Amino acid sequence: MHTQFSEQDLAFKAEVQEFLAEAWDDELKAMVHNRDTMKKGMVEWQQRIYRKGWMAPGWPEEHGGINWSVTQNFIFNSERARVGAPDKMPFGVTMVAPVIYKFGNEEQKQRFLPRILNSEDWWCQGYSEPGAGSDLASLKTRAELDGDEYIINGSKIWTTYAQYADWIFCLVRTDSSGKKQQGISFMLIDMKSPGITVRPIMTIDGFHHLNEVFFEDVRVPVANRVGEEGMGWTYAKSLLVLERFSIAEVADSKRFLAELKEMARQEINGGRSLLDDPIFASRLADVEIDLMALEYTELRALAAAAAGGTPGPESSLLKLQGTDVQKAIQELRMDVAGYYSNTLQGDLTPQQLGHDFADFAQKHYFRGRASSIYGGSDEVQKNITAKYVLGL
Ligand SMILES: Cc1cc2nc3c(=O)[nH]c(=O)nc-3n(C[C@H](O)[C@H](O)[C@H](O)COP(=O)(O)OP(=O)(O)OC[C@H]3O[C@@H](n4cnc5c(N)ncnc54)[C@H](O)[C@@H]3O)c2cc1C
Repeated sequence: MHTQFSEQDLAFKAEVQEFLAEAWDDELKAMVHNRDTMKKGMVEWQQRIYRKGWMAPGWPEEHGGINWSVTQNFIFNSERARVGAPDKMPFGVTMVAPVIYKFGNEEQKQRFLPRILNSEDWWCQGYSEPGAGSDLASLKTRAELDGDEYIINGSKIWTTYAQYADWIFCLVRTDSSGKKQQGISFMLIDMKSPGITVRPIMTIDGFHHLNEVFFEDVRVPVANRVGEEGMGWTYAKSLLVLERFSIAEVADSKRFLAELKEMARQEINGGRSLLDDPIFASRLADVEIDLMALEYTELRALAAAAAGGTPGPESSLLKLQGTDVQKAIQELRMDVAGYYSNTLQGDLTPQQLGHDFADFAQKHYFRGRASSIYGGSDEVQKNITAKYVLGL
């Protein structure tokens, strides 16, 4: 963004840089990037942000939120991405917390929000089921009332980091008699409850991010239902908009693009840098233009939200374009890494072959394929955009 920052914004930027220089240290970096210590590292990272008072921009101040301007949000995110620090895990602070502070009762706010704020609880999202992904309202996990408890039976799938989670927020069916969007309730479930089983799903990048979660006669207090019974669909929809908004990851794409350019500059082929290859350079320019357009679109949406609106269906557009840009960068990165990103080299990974950039390129490329699916698939985002943004 080519912006003239105010004096105040420049002072804030300096404060962010100072914070990051201290808080995002090498030890923490190593912890976050090692799959065995990732959770511990992420919790520590978020707690450092929390201690600085910056954990929850956008939350009401009475619950510990901070009222940053659009520019401050932009500055923090750009600087965070520039040093390669990860964004916060979205499931607690960005996703379930707004549902709790908007639709939950006082007791739920007091109980859950402080523990989300200081990262004491790790949350996961239990929406999707086998047979209920894009058509989420077809979900079948049942909750039957028994005194002051619900008894839950069914299963969820593709649950990111359920293996680490203390809590899961779930959509469950409390009534099957009406339209499928009715009769869905929003439930907060303790992952230690008897009857919950978590099974891993390994993904093509070789990691364990995803899981199946099974519920067998799991007893959940009625006090853990957010809002009214049968109104879960309305609450869930507000959350999906927030989820899509954050998936665009513009600041991170900017950093990845800058790194990609540097790698391409160093990659000499036939006596010239890859950056001087007209075909590669043209593809790179295309991505750069798309990313710049995306950034301005995101800023417009953020400014509209800051002026009192809530993010609406345009978040589908951001998600779609944001993930397209991410994938284009990942593909170019694979081209730069060339031979080393080939997985079929006997037993050796690119890292073992001494090529860190290729290792990163390969993992991100494979992982990135999923971005057209999670948070709502590309086709579904196109349908939403056609209907609600373009009015077709
Ligand atoms: C990496 C990853 C992480 C995830 N994490 C979570 C999580 O933490 N919690 C959670 O609840 N879920 C999670 N999901 C699930 C995700 O939300 C679903 O996968 C997604 O909503 C798509 O549903 P589905 O997989 O059932 O595919 P389907 O809905 O069966 O879709 C299959 C294909 O049909 C197309 N299609 C479906 N309906 C239409 C339509 N109306 N018009 C045009 N085309 C259509 C889709 O675009 C897709 O190409 C995750 C998924 C992935 C890949």
